[in-house]
Amino acid sequence: MITVLTGAGISTDSGIPDFRGPSGLWRNDPDHEKLVTIDYYLADPEIRRRSWQFRRDSPARTAAPNAAHLALVELERAGLLDRLVTQNIDGLHQKAGSSPERVLELHGNMSGVLCVRCGARSTLAEALERIDAGEPDPACQECGGILKTTTVMFGESLPERVVAEAVEATQRCRLFIAIGTSLQVQPAASLAGLAVRSGARLVIVNAEPTPYDDFAHELIRDPIGEAVPHLVARLS
Ligand code: NAD
Repeated sequence: MITVLTGAGISTDSGIPDFRGPSGLWRNDPDHEKLVTIDYYLADPEIRRRSWQFRRDSPARTAAPNAAHLALVELERAGLLDRLVTQNIDGLHQKAGSSPERVLELHGNMSGVLCVRCGARSTLAEALERIDAGEPDPACQECGGILKTTTVMFGESLPERVVAEAVEATQRCRLFIAIGTSLQVQPAASLAGLAVRSGARLVIVNAEPTPYDDFAHELIRDPIGEAVPHLVARLS
């Protein structure tokens, strides 16, 4: 069986910028990292205000899946995909038709909202409605605590059950494909090394070099929107 790890690069063809690629958010605005770092977010109402605006204006809210997301649905339909581990928070794998039970969202998703004090949950749509109605940094309606999206920010721990499932799927696969990730964010990136140590072949599909390239059995530098459908056709 095959385990796939995806990163922001699979969604650039859907119009969602990545972080570290040539047109990535961090190359154009180095300060952007603060918007997704929990300590800055909790300490600074101005960072929270900018972070909510970033979500409100994000192309991810209306983006459609692209050919690479759809090819991974085909891989599942062919009975070859075990788990689709993603660092993305955009929900595009599920929107494309991948089964929710096979998708492991390591970094959560942006559709939900959570109170950091009492844990009350609501939706991004509800928070954005309040923002548009004049509350730039909406507080929890239950307890007044700080609200954040149900994404894993830098400095927060990853959901333990999801990580455990991703590790198991990585250890049992015969082929591990990393797509559109710079493999710089841990612990997600370390899954590539774990796959190789567990005896799997490693294929990396990414335009730019990654720290795991030397361990890969195959490197594909072609644009993801073409490379992934070709790869899936070859495997099926
Ligand atoms: P990254 O930005 O660090 O790296 C993306 C890589 O994809 C780059 O090396 C880039 O060269 C490559 N790439 C981009 N478009 C490509 C294309 N069309 N063809 C070939 N290669 C392409 O992304 P990461 O490793 O996922 O780490 C970023 C973190 O940011 C993750 O934790 C993720 O949660 C978050 N993030 C998510 C989204 C999203 O959900 N769509 C968007 C931005 C950031």
